[in-house]
Amino acid sequence: MTNETLDDAAGLLPAEAIDAIERAATSAHRHENLFSERAANIKQSAVRDVFDISMRPGLVSLAGGSPYLQSLPLERLAATAGSIIAENGLTALQYGSGQGTEELRAQICEVMAAEGILDALPQNVVITAGSQSAQDIATKVFCNPGDVVLVENPTYVGALNTFEAYQVQVETVEMDGSGMVPDLLEARIAALQTAGKNIKFLYTIPSFNNPSGITLAPERRQEIVDICRRANILVLEDNPYGLLRFDGEPLEPLRAANPSDVIYMGSFSKIFAPGLRIGWALVPEHLQRRYYLAAESVTLCPPTFNQMLVSAYLRDYDWKGQIETYRGLYAQRCQAMLAALEEYMPPGLSWTTPEGGFFVWVTLPEGVDTYPLLKKAIDAGVVFIPGAAFTPSVESSNKLRLAFSAVPPDAIVEGVRRLAPVLREAIAAL
Ligand code: PMP
Repeated sequence: MTNETLDDAAGLLPAEAIDAIERAATSAHRHENLFSERAANIKQSAVRDVFDISMRPGLVSLAGGSPYLQSLPLERLAATAGSIIAENGLTALQYGSGQGTEELRAQICEVMAAEGILDALPQNVVITAGSQSAQDIATKVFCNPGDVVLVENPTYVGALNTFEAYQVQVETVEMDGSGMVPDLLEARIAALQTAGKNIKFLYTIPSFNNPSGITLAPERRQEIVDICRRANILVLEDNPYGLLRFDGEPLEPLRAANPSDVIYMGSFSKIFAPGLRIGWALVPEHLQRRYYLAAESVTLCPPTFNQMLVSAYLRDYDWKGQIETYRGLYAQRCQAMLAALEEYMPPGLSWTTPEGGFFVWVTLPEGVDTYPLLKKAIDAGVVFIPGAAFTPSVESSNKLRLAFSAVPPDAIVEGVRRLAPVLREAIAAL
């Protein structure tokens, strides 16, 4: 154990000190040498870091972007789950197709049609353990260590963790209020390719980006794909929130008009239930086989029972009506958050106004680091995610993410009210 570790441990509470000592002792174990280089890059996400804290009674968690499941018809779902086992148990509990059940792949094409992808074929859908695993498979199939992946700044922490685990060089492209700026993307690609870098794909969350809530404007969408096509870079489109637009029709995904250049990833996590871990990738025909084989090598097959439950839900329930319910509910929560920010936040802050999804992105004045503010916020009874989690940079961030999805409006208001003095104090100390 190093002196620093001992010093660190000495400043902690007794139980935490014991943990720290044990951790240090473990890291000295001879098996340490056996880890792959990749393993050192695998980190716990910032959202997971605060997951347990967020569960503390009395605390308002504006941290995790969990969907609000309380409005699901749980008793009816329990009966459906029971009848799947009773009537089709030998199929439901058996291994299934590596690509996913035929029924669910066909239904997924209908879900994608609801957001504007009209030509998807079930044979090009690969069902995965959430879209998280669809990202992992794409990175595994396309990226060697040192290859470049482009992402929006900021972007989803889980995707960053995946890319870093595969030792990929993550490069960011700035957004404005209308999403990724095409000229900046083009310039970034040119600079990286001139420097001899191998750029494999652009990972983008065009609708209601996690964490910023920003949406890529319709008039920019084709331009972004065209820029990537010209540079021979794939687009990895991650769209778990697309159907959760507060007003009007969902925006057409990048994949809709670009079947050969876009791998589209979708998920039932935000429109049904994340615990089932069912997501998918719609893969261009010419890439499908490699992608599917990589998926199969990880899980053999996606969980059969869970797929059958999702199929029953899409077949026998009013899933579109449920999405309508969610849209109204999240719109109301977002409104509560925006109004509370307006009421309580000190001058000098700005925040995004999302058109859908789960998140608001708050910017503090330059020079404020939101990471150390997290502990103070927890003491004040509220949790958020510091902005640094959502960029590959190691620099501190003056941003923070607030999630409105899982908390009722009055608790959202209370959470923002508790956060305000913490931020005011940080600004005053500049
Ligand atoms: N992509 C984005 C942008 C997300 O926000 C999340 C979950 N928060 C995921 C992917 C992972 O979703 P899933 O549960 O489908 O793995």
